[in-house]
Amino acid sequence: MTGKVYLIGAGPGDPELLTLKAHRLLKAADVVLYDRLVGKEIIELIPETAEKMYVGKEKSLHSLPQEDINTLLTKKAKEGNMVVRLKGGDPFIFGRGGEELEELIQEAVPFEVVPGVTAAAGCAAYAGIPLTHRDYAQSVRFLTGHLKDGTTDLPWEELIHPAQTLVIYMGLTALKDISASLIKFGMKPSMPVAVVEKGTTKEQRVFTSTIDQVYDVATKNEAKSPALLIIGEVVALQEKLEWYGKY
Ligand code: SAH
Repeated sequence: MTGKVYLIGAGPGDPELLTLKAHRLLKAADVVLYDRLVGKEIIELIPETAEKMYVGKEKSLHSLPQEDINTLLTKKAKEGNMVVRLKGGDPFIFGRGGEELEELIQEAVPFEVVPGVTAAAGCAAYAGIPLTHRDYAQSVRFLTGHLKDGTTDLPWEELIHPAQTLVIYMGLTALKDISASLIKFGMKPSMPVAVVEKGTTKEQRVFTSTIDQVYDVATKNEAKSPALLIIGEVVALQEKLEWYGKY
């Protein structure tokens, strides 16, 4: 009898940001396939009896190509297992969750999707930056700084819109290009920016600066992935609202 696949968002790092549903399913799993971004403390919650498989992603030499992950999910489910596919943040936000489900549908493997706290929500909360604010931002936009072919090509003109917060995932590598392009297309050089590194974890670091200086600030502090960029007037509130590790 075919088992089932649960595509689960693990949140940005703090294990307490797992949903109750994610936690319950993780505890009952026969097989868990997890990514690089899933927090260590969350991996430790996987029961001893479950088969734990690190499938990595991107730069890792040990990572499996996406097609192999899809095939492995199908295979494990068809053997009758309850399979948890654990991803950082939310599986449907820059998480390739959609791609993994397509193969399951083709192979008639039943599945469920469990949302997670996406990095934008987690990092903003733990950094003390409200993504919207009645005085400063009526909309928020999630973008990726890294396309499938390795380039960065964003709809720059639309990003200059006032009263809009930009959250850029995977933006660190292309930070120099991103900041230069935003200024070139009309963003004021003094626009506040935060780089949140390892948000919601005990190692979280937050660097605030302005769009014309963010690259230098990130370089000087040796900011590392995973890091999220938050750009907009709301970032100026961070100084006042910062709380994590403070009280
Ligand atoms: N599905 C995930 C995003 C995966 S893309 C989600 O919903 O959050 C990977 C990118 O997410 C990283 O390059 C980084 O920009 C961001 N990210 C994920 N976890 C993060 C964390 N704890 N702190 C800062 N950025 C994070």
